[in-house]
Amino acid sequence: MTPIYPPEPFRIKVVESIHLISREEREAALKEAGYNLFLMKAEDMFVDLLTDSGTGAMSSEQWAAIMRGDESYAGARSYYRLKNAVDDVFGFKHFLPTHQGRAAENILAAVLVKPGQWVPSNMHFDTTDANIRARQGRPANLVIDEAHDPENRHPFKGNMDIAKLKAFIAKYGREQIPFGMITVTNNAGGGQPVSMENLKAVADVYHQNGIPFFIDAARYAENCFFIKQREPGFELKSVKEIAHEMFSLADGMTMSAKKDAIVNIGGLLCLNDDTLFQNLKNELILREGFPTYGGLAGRDLDAMAVGLYEGLDEDYLAYRIGQTAYLAARLNEAGIPTLQPTGGHGVYVNAGAIFPHIPNYEFPAQALGVELYREGGIRGVEIGSVMFACLDPQDNKWHYPALELLRLAIPRRTYTQSHLDYVADCFAAIKSRANTVKGYRFTYAPELLRHFTARFEPL
Ligand SMILES: *Cc1c(COP(=O)(O)O)cnc(C)c1O
Repeated sequence: MTPIYPPEPFRIKVVESIHLISREEREAALKEAGYNLFLMKAEDMFVDLLTDSGTGAMSSEQWAAIMRGDESYAGARSYYRLKNAVDDVFGFKHFLPTHQGRAAENILAAVLVKPGQWVPSNMHFDTTDANIRARQGRPANLVIDEAHDPENRHPFKGNMDIAKLKAFIAKYGREQIPFGMITVTNNAGGGQPVSMENLKAVADVYHQNGIPFFIDAARYAENCFFIKQREPGFELKSVKEIAHEMFSLADGMTMSAKKDAIVNIGGLLCLNDDTLFQNLKNELILREGFPTYGGLAGRDLDAMAVGLYEGLDEDYLAYRIGQTAYLAARLNEAGIPTLQPTGGHGVYVNAGAIFPHIPNYEFPAQALGVELYREGGIRGVEIGSVMFACLDPQDNKWHYPALELLRLAIPRRTYTQSHLDYVADCFAAIKSRANTVKGYRFTYAPELLRHFTARFEPL
């Protein structure tokens, strides 16, 4: 018997209690936080699906590795254990540990991006976008058009639009593009994978133009698993072989190890070029730490060395991708529309379709996030007008994003299928009273990165 949704390929050895506070307490907590879920206490959450970043459960092998951590300043054994794993999995000539993915991005942008230059990608994640802008560079998102249609079931909705990429390079010139990127899976676009065929085409275009190619590899293992499942010719290859093929196309990579290396903190920067490596290393020493620890403790490096292999384990990946698909299927059965096809690390609920009576400027996905907490102590994250609507200084009009989404990100190895059933049941309860739910307005909103600190009141 092959299960559609593989059961957890692990058993529980250590537990952390969670508790659903009463409805009155939830109501009071919402009010005190100005109805912003970012401003609430994690302790007041029953099922916390705010992010899959650094929130996963480490294995007994990782905890054992933590005890082996060598805290020597230079040349620690932990560094060499991580180096062996990184060399084996990714196969680049050089690597540097960093404390998070954004630290790797910062160092790369600091060394390579000059004011006014462009960095194309399918879609940059927000920290990558910000690190390019922080050097007066200009990020560009050239994902295929299908990515913007929530119903379109393209199997590789994270793909770069090759025609757009060629036209982009022709327009701005290769001298104005210090490096090009692609994000696997495409987090900002719903955790959608990129095909190997597309990666090859992207690498060819960059290389024909002499542009170094860097992969944002935060969820590379999930992406490689999707390639194995969906791309003809890869069914019989191991995920690790597929990863080798993927990284052999690139000149380097940045990675948040808080995703597919299943650690609570850590990042990686890998590359082949010797001179660039020297320059990046000097920047790392200035910003992060000595190159054999890069802003992390020795024990963090050891946890990462083990986590890299666990993140590639195919039983784990089948369960992981199955878990996300399971939640989406349960929601869809209950009549809750989600972004299709379901991505790797989370389910993106179409709040605009659930609350058609709430206009963009009254924040339907924010309202859904609040209702979900109210109903069941569950935390998702708004990806809609609170995050993205902006006032255009040219015409003094508000511009709203195409979709009002609530993302339910699934931490790795943390919640069981019954937690997900509970989430789906709470959505069903909200749907039955959807027409009574009202929108929100700001009582405080800063100009930038508003979603983190804004406060609201119900209308
Ligand atoms: C999380 C993430 C980053 C940034 O990594 P941090 O570890 O949070 O600094 C970069 N790119 C992608 C695709 C991510 O998901």
